[in-house]
Amino acid sequence: MLKNLGEALRGAFRKIANAPFVDKELIQEVVRDVQRALISGDVNVKLVLEISKRIEKRALEEKPLPGMSSRDHVIKILYEEISSILGKGRELPLKKQKIMMVGLYGQGKTTTCGKIAKYFQKRGLKVAMIAADVHRPAAYEQLKQIGEKIGVPVLGGDDAINVVKRGMENFAKYDVIIVDTAGRHALEKELIEEMKEISKVLNPDEKILVMDASIGQQAGRQAKAFNDAIGITGVILTKMDGSAKGGGALSAVAETGAPIIYIGTGEQIDDFEKFDAKRFLSRLLGMGDLLTLIEKVEEVAEEKEIGETAKKIMSGKFTLLDMYEQMEVVTKMGPFQKIADLLPFGRTFKDEEIIATQEKLKKFRVIMDSMTKKELEEPSIINSSRIKRIARGAGVEQKDVKELIRQYNISKKMMKSLSNKKMQAKLLRQLGMKM
Ligand code: GDP
Repeated sequence: MLKNLGEALRGAFRKIANAPFVDKELIQEVVRDVQRALISGDVNVKLVLEISKRIEKRALEEKPLPGMSSRDHVIKILYEEISSILGKGRELPLKKQKIMMVGLYGQGKTTTCGKIAKYFQKRGLKVAMIAADVHRPAAYEQLKQIGEKIGVPVLGGDDAINVVKRGMENFAKYDVIIVDTAGRHALEKELIEEMKEISKVLNPDEKILVMDASIGQQAGRQAKAFNDAIGITGVILTKMDGSAKGGGALSAVAETGAPIIYIGTGEQIDDFEKFDAKRFLSRLLGMGDLLTLIEKVEEVAEEKEIGETAKKIMSGKFTLLDMYEQMEVVTKMGPFQKIADLLPFGRTFKDEEIIATQEKLKKFRVIMDSMTKKELEEPSIINSSRIKRIARGAGVEQKDVKELIRQYNISKKMMKSLSNKKMQAKLLRQLGMKM
């Protein structure tokens, strides 16, 4: 019996990595290992067969990219197919919505309600919470305390359906309503019934399953039960700051078809991050080199991306996100140094400058996370009260926000000078593109 999914997959990857050469037999053996690992990890059998068939076919038929060994090539295919289970990540949209949170006791559901509330609040949305876990008296108190800390109103009561109905009335003018529902130690019939009832009354846009990263084998079954009852739209994996690698989550995602959207990385309200499939898998598989390899593969894809950034520049639309992308491109330059001369920050960069820009980028990212979509697209609307709000949300000083806007204005001006035809032609030529 294989101990756990991560361990078993790691074994399969290691087998390839240590093999003197890669042939058909080795590929078939590894595919069988992966199959066994996924099935023992509660991943749906049909899905496992599909994936293993694809891995085998691709490993035998596809040619490695130039500069890549056949071993790296097979590892890359394994990685890509396994990460396809995780699906394309998504984030919760920044719009008016009702969110229903479900999960068993102790998984971190109530804590996560607060984290999401703060997440939306930071982005300029008005948030309220409803404590629909009426069976555990402390649950309301816990949610109320969290709400008080971040200035979000919380409504409680002693009947779950009733409190949800009242909350929807009271908070009708709010943008985001987050409903914390009851957990149990196991999935009992009454819990399922109550969940269904709440879902019917609330008609939520999102139904989010909260799971502890250490959950392991039961993950698939548990996720299936929640999914059968109300239909899950996203999974949040908590306690990723601990030693658990989150292998069970793979099964939960495979079972529900709902992607992991965020992870909890600590007990504090800001310990909350967007889910990153690449990082998750290299942690699950315990392979740092895997990350390097994937990055190598992605450089090739990046070349295309740079072309797209250039096109966007040409089109004359230039938002804060575009600027961020450009700075990112510049810091990752490597083989693409040639474009540097033509970007707004354009010239050759010294290593320390690149490091300084990377540091700045990190700060900019945090600041931009606290902005609304409109602010990112039309930075000219950012006045002093918005600056204050953004700085508070991002936990930086107002002068940092001003620095970002200053940088944006400079870039934009330089961008304008780029809009002359001769410069455009030169840039496109350098990128090997036609006008
Ligand atoms: P609930 O019963 O599902 O509502 O779980 P709670 O929100 O009460 O959380 C249970 C425990 O897990 C609490 O002690 C939380 O502080 C802790 N917790 C929740 N999320 C995280 C996380 O991402 N990391 C860590 N280390 N602890 C967490």
